[in-house]
Parts: sequence; structure tokens; C-alpha cells
Amino acid sequence: MIKVRDCVARMTAYVPGEAALDSGVVKLNQNENRYPMSSRALAAARKEASGLGLYPESSSAGVRNAAAELYGVRPEEVMATNGSDEILRLLFHAYCDPGDAVFAFYPSYTYYATLAAMYGADYRLVDFTADYRLPPGLKLPEAKLAFLPNPNAPTGTVFSGAEIRGLIEATPNGVVVIDEAYADFAPPGTSVIPLIGEYDNLAVVRTLSKSHALAGLRVGLGFMREAALAELDKVRDYYNLDRLAQAGGEAALRDTEWLRETTGKIVATRERVTGELRRLGLEVVPSGANFIMVGFGGAEKARRVFSGLKARKVLVRYFDKRRVDSFLRVTVGTDADMDRFLDALRGTLQEPA
Ligand code: PMP
Repeated sequence: MIKVRDCVARMTAYVPGEAALDSGVVKLNQNENRYPMSSRALAAARKEASGLGLYPESSSAGVRNAAAELYGVRPEEVMATNGSDEILRLLFHAYCDPGDAVFAFYPSYTYYATLAAMYGADYRLVDFTADYRLPPGLKLPEAKLAFLPNPNAPTGTVFSGAEIRGLIEATPNGVVVIDEAYADFAPPGTSVIPLIGEYDNLAVVRTLSKSHALAGLRVGLGFMREAALAELDKVRDYYNLDRLAQAGGEAALRDTEWLRETTGKIVATRERVTGELRRLGLEVVPSGANFIMVGFGGAEKARRVFSGLKARKVLVRYFDKRRVDSFLRVTVGTDADMDRFLDALRGTLQEPA
């Protein structure tokens, strides 16, 4: 076999959560939206399906125009990508030479580490404080890129505008990437998209996989100042969004009523389930996302609960890693999903150890 680049030989591939095993499983392990997608988005994608003999429009203008209107920016300040994972990769592709320092926080989304390994970056993890906030007095002058999800995954922690400004100002020589995959579930005003006008080293990343219930369509969005985005656009695959993704994505972004209703239901369910879990005496980390991190006081117990839930056909996520190994991350599904989860959890907790 011909040798691949050293950094590729050394890296391991990202392992996503398990796909659904069978149709009876309540799937709460990948933070998908368990409500049906917008019927307008479905109709738009269906209609487009008859035209697949032709290449898609290269710049995804429909999606970008809809996003620009929705978020109050210009279309030149938005890029549409094949899921938000693609915009994350493009940021590495455009900014990261081998050996460059790339920062992220711990515990957080681990795909940043995979990308850093792929590009031969010097990846540095900074621990969040005990309550999962940014450490005080942060200074990252050597960072080329710094990544922070807001809300964070897997904790659900929401950072304030002031905290984000602090991070941007602590990173004078690099791009700060705020990953807003879950921001539609957070309190209004959480998004820092309005700050791209103020900081030319800020990139904001969004996805239609979570709040818009379109994980299978693969639509992500990147927001940056026009000049920076033009550089990123050079390294984008020129047909990165297929016709279905462009049609469905645009219609989904324009169906703001669907989004408001669906995210409202998920947020209400999150608060109800958080209350019920706390009444069971469990620790729940405060979350502004469509998932909650539930603590079981020890790794062995968390693993046992994970298996007990799985045996009852409820699939959640377990991370066998420092600081998170005594927790389970549970996606907030529909009320019916969460009742199944709570029943399965009660059954599991009653089993003798
Ligand atoms: N960022 C965060 C924080 C995520 O949890 C995910 C989902 N795994 C993504 C980005 C990627 O989402 P997608 O590629 O489906 O847009």
C-alpha cells in the first residue's frame, strides 16, 4: 500500500453515534429532532427531485438569501455547506498549516480534534471550569483557530455575549469559531451572528440538522465578514449542496412558524424532563440545547444505566472520557419519547446492581 500523509496514518476516524437499530427504538443519542420536518421543506425537496439530471446551482443562492434575510446579514456573509461539519473542515483547510495551534475546550464536541489531526495541527484542549464555563483570564495569542459551541455539547451550557467577546478579544491572531448548532433551543439573543460586523476574526457556524429536523438532508451555514468568506469559498467543493438540499434547506429556513412551534415544544419538554429527573435525585446540568446531561454519580453506574436503557430500547449517548464518564447525554425528543425514556430509566434504576 502507498503510504498516506503521516498525520493521516496517525489519526483515527471520528465515530458518530449509533444509527437506529430497529424501528421500535427511541433514538435519543445523536441530538436529532424527533418531530417531522416542515411540510413546506418536504414539498420543496420532493418537487426538486424531478430535476436531478441537472447540476445544482453552485453557490446555493436560495439558501444563502433565505439565511441572510432570517439572520439580518448580507448573502455575501453566508456560505451554505454540506452539513456544518463541512464548514468546520473548510475553516481548517483555509486557515490551518501543519503545526499551527488550534484550541478547543474540554469537554466539548470532539470532531474538532479529528479535523485538527487531519490537518496536522497542534491541538490544545483547555478545560472548562467545574461548572463548564470558560476559564477566567484566558489568553490565546498563539491560536490560529479556536472552537466553542454555544450552547456547548455535550453539557448544554449557554455562554453570554460578553463571554464570547472575551474569547474573541483573547484570540487576536486567530479565528474564533462559535458553533451554534444548538442555538435555536437557547434563550433569544444567544446568537452572535450580529457580531460578525464587529469582528473580522469571528466565524459563526449553524446547522439545519437539529432545530430544523433535517439531519439527513445535510445543510450547514457559515457566517463571516465578506472578505474572509470569499477566501473560504475558494476551497469549497463547487457543487457541495445537491438540489434536494438547496430546495429543502431554503424552504425550511423560510418556514419560521414551524421552527418557532417545534423548538418551543422541545424547550418545554426539556424543562419538564429536567424537573422530573431532579425529583428522582439525579444531577442535570442546566441546558440551553435539545439534550441534557444527566449525572449518575459514577462511571460504573452510568454504564449500567446506559445498558439498562438500551435493553429497554431507549438509545442514549455515553462518553467513556474524563469528566463526562459518570453522565449520560440524552436528546430531548417528543413528550412521548421522553415518557418512554423516563419509564425505562425508572425500571433500570430499580434493578439490583
Ligand atoms: N457541531 C456540533 C456541536 C454538533 O454537535 C454537531 C452534530 N454532531 C455538528 C456541529 C455537526 O452537525 P451537522 O454536520 O449535521 O450539521
